[in-house]
This record gives sequence, structure tokens and C-alpha cells, in this order.
Amino acid sequence: MTAEDHPHIENSPATTGESELIAVLLDAQRRGLNRGTSGNSSLRTPTGFSITPSALPYDQMTVDDLVSVDHDQQASGRHRPSSEWLFHSAIYAARPDVAAIVHLHSPSATALASLRRDIPAFHYMVAVAGGESIRCGDYATFGTAELAAIAVDALRDRMACLLANHGQIACGDTPRAAFRLAEEVESLAQQFMLASSVAEPAILTPEEMSQVLMKFSDYRSALD
Ligand code: 13P
Ligand code: ZN
Repeated sequence: MTAEDHPHIENSPATTGESELIAVLLDAQRRGLNRGTSGNSSLRTPTGFSITPSALPYDQMTVDDLVSVDHDQQASGRHRPSSEWLFHSAIYAARPDVAAIVHLHSPSATALASLRRDIPAFHYMVAVAGGESIRCGDYATFGTAELAAIAVDALRDRMACLLANHGQIACGDTPRAAFRLAEEVESLAQQFMLASSVAEPAILTPEEMSQVLMKFSDYRSALD
């Protein structure tokens, strides 16, 4: 896939969602959830999706730097799309319920992902991602189709997952909602590791979690 200049992109007025793509990554950096140019974000559009460019520091990024990837996987913009455009593309294709994606190398989620551990139901808030656990997908090299397939599988019936030895992915209706979920995943990973450092945490039963999931059925909209 090549990136090329595309006058349409540069002349289009930025949507709120597109500004949010950059704002949430800046927030992640300010809160210590990301460093340098790691992480990326994207937003579904009528023609495909809009994604942050590869390897451009967020504090230098404007909406004109975003890259548009169409339904035929052709990129247009003045930069190359994020090296993870394949997993963003695969998630949008597999998940009509997802409109925005945030990927972070946040410290606790990444530490837990390096242990290749799911986040089990040690806390009822695990249900915020849609199920009884937050899965950790297997390891694959960044930017590959293999990693894209792993991410889609780890996100089955979930809005977030960990990626082994890499980081986390959170989805939402907007970039801001996806970022809020990513913050929650980070906090859960931190709490789980803190508890695990003392002893094996007690895990809620499937019955206890199904009660929470019922109460959370409208929680996602509350996050927006
Ligand atoms: P990009 O700068 O290409 O988006 O890469 C960051 C990253 O997190 C790769 O997994
Ligand atoms: Zn990454």
C-alpha cells in the first residue's frame, strides 16, 4: 500500500472525531500512558477509516496529517498510515459495532501482556470491556496480518484486549470513548498485578459476572 497526496483529504474540514484522534493520544502521553510515537488511533468514516500516521510525534500532528484508508485498502494522505493499519482495518471489517479504535503501550497493560495473562474477573469492572475477562492475544510481529487476525480474535464479544508483549487495543463509538476504555483497562491491569503480587486474587464466578454484565448492558453508552 502506498500513501500519496490526496487533495480531498487536505481540503476537507476536520470532523470532531478526527480532532479527537490526536487529542486522545496527547492525553495518553500527558497521563503517562504512552511515550514517543508508540500507539495510534483511528475513526471509521463513510469511505473506510481515518488513522494517525506512522512514526509522527503527536505534539507535532494536526488533522491534515491523518491518513485516509478506503474500503479497497488504498491509503491517501501526505504520510504513511500507522504501521498497525492492518489491525485497524481488520477490526472495522469484523466489527460493525466499532466506530473508533485506540491502541496504547500503556505501562500496566503492557506489563501484564508481557506475562501473556488475560485480565480475569478479579474485579467487576472487567465487565466494562463486554465480558467475563479481557483477553490477551498471542504474540505476533507488529504491523502484520497475523497480528490483525489475533487482535480480531482476542476482541471476540469484547471492546478491548491485550496484545502479548506489545500493549492494548480499546474500541468505542468515538475516539474519546475508546480512550476512556483504554484508561479503564490500564487501571484494571495495574490493580490485578498489585493484588497478584500479594497472593492469587479471588475471581468472581460466572454467575456473579453475568449479574454485572446485565447491569452494564447500557454502561457503554454511559461512557460516551
Ligand atoms: P505507528 O507509529 O506506526 O502507529 O506505530 C506505533 C505502534 O504502536 C506500533 O505497534
Ligand atoms: Zn503498538
